[in-house]
Amino acid sequence: MKNGTMGAAEMSAEARRASHLAHFYTLLPEMLSHIGWSRADIDAHRTTALREMLAHAKAHSPWYAARLGHIDAATATLADLKRIPVMTKHDLMEHWDEIVTIPGASRAEAEAALRTMKDQFYIWGDHVLLASGGTGGRPGLFVYDFDSLARMWAGMARGFFASLMPLAMEGVAVPNGVRMATVGGETSGHGSFVLSRVFSNPNNPTTNLSGWRTMPDNYAKLNEAQPHFIFTYPSVVVELCEAQANGRLNISPRILYFGGEQLPQAIYDLAKATWPKADILTCWGTSEGGGSFACRHGGYHICEDLVIIEPVDGAGQPIKPGQLSESIYFTNLYNKALPIIRYTIDDVFELAEEPCPCGSQHTKVRQVHGRSVDKFRYGDIVIAPVTLELAALEQPNILEYQIQQTQSGARFLYRAELPVNEVQLVAKMHAVLLDFGVTAPEVTIEKVAGFTRTAAGKLKHFLPLPEGAA
Ligand SMILES: [Zn+2]
Repeated sequence: MKNGTMGAAEMSAEARRASHLAHFYTLLPEMLSHIGWSRADIDAHRTTALREMLAHAKAHSPWYAARLGHIDAATATLADLKRIPVMTKHDLMEHWDEIVTIPGASRAEAEAALRTMKDQFYIWGDHVLLASGGTGGRPGLFVYDFDSLARMWAGMARGFFASLMPLAMEGVAVPNGVRMATVGGETSGHGSFVLSRVFSNPNNPTTNLSGWRTMPDNYAKLNEAQPHFIFTYPSVVVELCEAQANGRLNISPRILYFGGEQLPQAIYDLAKATWPKADILTCWGTSEGGGSFACRHGGYHICEDLVIIEPVDGAGQPIKPGQLSESIYFTNLYNKALPIIRYTIDDVFELAEEPCPCGSQHTKVRQVHGRSVDKFRYGDIVIAPVTLELAALEQPNILEYQIQQTQSGARFLYRAELPVNEVQLVAKMHAVLLDFGVTAPEVTIEKVAGFTRTAAGKLKHFLPLPEGAA
């Protein structure tokens, strides 16, 4: 801001964030209590929530009114889900204006706002926008009402809060006395950034360190901060473990929380061997509605009070625990601003076959395969290609894209029907590569008519060169 003064808009965003955080804390006890619900409690709640969502969508979204004409919302049960047609991200983005139920809201206005938003994401009063690279090779745009955004965050964060109990027993004040650090993540419209920004606790500032840059700078800061809790990415923790082993890092975190990528068993084992007293938490979430909460016993539970996840095979039939799904159908039961009902996400789910030792009856997920992001390696420089993807997310006219690693940089392929600012996109990717230390990076861009997909119909967003080729 000019002259260091704070504008009215900025102040109101701060005030909204404060009330959003307060609302989150009022929801948290309820969300924590749901962890212990019986199966009957969960199913009764889901049936009611599904009926309410169907009724709302039929009444306020012309698109759903046409698709759900044969469904009686008042008497629908979970068994009726299979009578509801599946929707795709393409459906959502093409029919956004007929799906969104906020009066006067439009995708064009949301996209225009997204291009200029930097540190606040409120729109149409206290609604919040989330952008996502996500599934299907096309950026997605989501909007949440005030309560729903807090509910999504509380639904996912409750696993973390449950894991703070041992610290609380030792006399650490929860939550304000818990020393927190994140290693990874940068400013963007990505869901995870927006959520952590909105719900950051000003009474307990988190030490935010970039995991996408040179690590050694972070060690002194971590040694000083001595965090109880570290949020990071699986690919980053390998370096932290090495530094701890050779003495450059000397910390004893009690909770390591992994996000953004699939957590390989080898990395889980390495982290556990390095910090035996630490709980290793991870969970899966999506901009379409969150989705799971972490469990101290490994894996995570589906937030079945908030969403319905149907893991299915290639023919759309339900799969059994222990089998790998081809994709999932995702239904958001709580965010009425933008109803998401039986929405296809091409993640590979593996449900646990055994009940969880924690006792929670919410369906346990052993692992979600296929979110593992391949790294681009240039000599000793390692880059998570999601950092390059941010440049693509700023261009809402891109329908599908793929980022290919080259010897000296990257090649960006995209499909679009409306204009894309190629110069800006290339400049941004170039700057990212340069920032990471790639010498004289080359970025090329090419508009294509379509993409070759995998046998399963998936588009790989990131194509690294074979190991050692760059
Ligand atoms: Zn559990």
